[in-house]
Amino acid sequence: PSQLYGEERDNSDGVELGSREDLARLQADLAKGGKVDATPLINGKPVSGKARPVISPVDGKTVAGSVVEAGEDQAREAMKIAAAGFRAWDRTDVARRAAALDNAANLMEARRGPLLSLLQVEAGKTIDDAIAELREAVDFCRYYAAQARKLFAEGEAMPGPTGEENRLVHRGRGVFVCISPWNFPLAIFLGQVAAALAAGNAVVAKPAEQTPLIAHEAVKILLEAGVPGSVIQFVPGDGRIGAALINNAAVAGVAFTGSTETAWAINRALAAKNAAIVPLIAETGGINAMIVDATALPEQVADDVVLSAFRSAGQRCSALRLLCVQDDVADKIVTMIKGAAEELKLGDPRDLSVQIGPVIDAEAKTGLEAHIAEISKTAKTRLATKAPAEGTFVGPHIFEIGKVEDLKREVFGPVLHVVRWKAGKLDALLDAIAASGYGLTLGVHTRIDSTIEAVTERMPAGNIYVNRNMIGAVVGTQPFGGVGLSGTGPKAGGPNYLKRFASEQVVAVNT
Ligand code: GLU
Repeated sequence: PSQLYGEERDNSDGVELGSREDLARLQADLAKGGKVDATPLINGKPVSGKARPVISPVDGKTVAGSVVEAGEDQAREAMKIAAAGFRAWDRTDVARRAAALDNAANLMEARRGPLLSLLQVEAGKTIDDAIAELREAVDFCRYYAAQARKLFAEGEAMPGPTGEENRLVHRGRGVFVCISPWNFPLAIFLGQVAAALAAGNAVVAKPAEQTPLIAHEAVKILLEAGVPGSVIQFVPGDGRIGAALINNAAVAGVAFTGSTETAWAINRALAAKNAAIVPLIAETGGINAMIVDATALPEQVADDVVLSAFRSAGQRCSALRLLCVQDDVADKIVTMIKGAAEELKLGDPRDLSVQIGPVIDAEAKTGLEAHIAEISKTAKTRLATKAPAEGTFVGPHIFEIGKVEDLKREVFGPVLHVVRWKAGKLDALLDAIAASGYGLTLGVHTRIDSTIEAVTERMPAGNIYVNRNMIGAVVGTQPFGGVGLSGTGPKAGGPNYLKRFASEQVVAVNT
């Protein structure tokens, strides 16, 4: 993985700056940040219009920049231009497509200061999260460039009878629509786009409404790095723009990361067209559980739970939502977690010692507060942290609930739910967790090998983490993505991702 400041990586994508010089360099870099004025980028050119301000969640008043949103006409225009740009890009040598992504990675490293600053101000990221995200974005570009060279540079000769040559080749599908979330507004945005481009597609990208600025900077970098303006179109806007793109006749594939409900809606819209059958690559949410038994090391559990549940203010789809702890050790472990969570420093993440930043916007805060009010009627409150009043903060909360089924949906914030289970009842616990239908991340803390085996064999989860935290999948090391209600696969940052963005063609020649 790339390094930006000589930082060390722990196993959660956390960063620790190597030296005082690194910190000084980081501070000097951050000072280069500034406001960004984003517009749609169609055929490589900005589109003017009425801009709205983008207000930072760090204090509810700092202006991060402004955005001109695309209208439906522009969404249509973007699809048309991408459809026209597709063929030439698909025929471009794979090495050149890959080189453009490598160039983008280099440019991002060179401009780390303004990008990190924007991740802090627009998305409320702590400095650790911002560095880890920028690094992930760089890694996605380099990894997909390398994969494209490996998979697509030459076709694969297939066996056949004498006198016949059979060759399997991959081609782009056409126009890929990429719709990304606000929680990784650079890494996931760019991960989808880079994969689609590497496979030879033209792309129309819609960033999350909350975070158009960093996505705009990413597209400008791709253009500068050598991706033609006809091949990448940028259309910031709300759900109506997403719907216009999905319903357009030119769409040949969709990559989406966000809620399960939106993935259903996209799937239905694509299926309703009596036209080409369009693949959807969706990565959605989860009610992620961690199972802790009496053999686990309590200190390690406490560390891993605090990181998994509260880092990034719980705004990761991988985050821990449901801690299932064996009765015998539950009090001890919950007390330790509570103690560690109380120590976390909450606040404006531009203060580099802050560990938990804001939630993304007022709507997220209101939703979390409503959940907290509702669940505290029936659950036992084990921790309720106060949060700063300015900005959109929610402090870490812990609730003890009666049974797994009491947590009915994904709660996207720093709220941990705890259930107890009794020795001898592991099977029933696993069944109850699996019954939610989600299958993204799953944690296990135990020293018993047969438990690890039982959990990994029978649990439908895309990413299982044993005796460690359960967030921060690393590109090329822990390919990421879920099953069932959590997503379609293939896994981002894994060796099979690019192939799903491509179509296959076999040419059989009678020699
Ligand atoms: N890949 C991220 C992680 O492993 C989560 C991605 C997401 O929240 O969508 O923590």
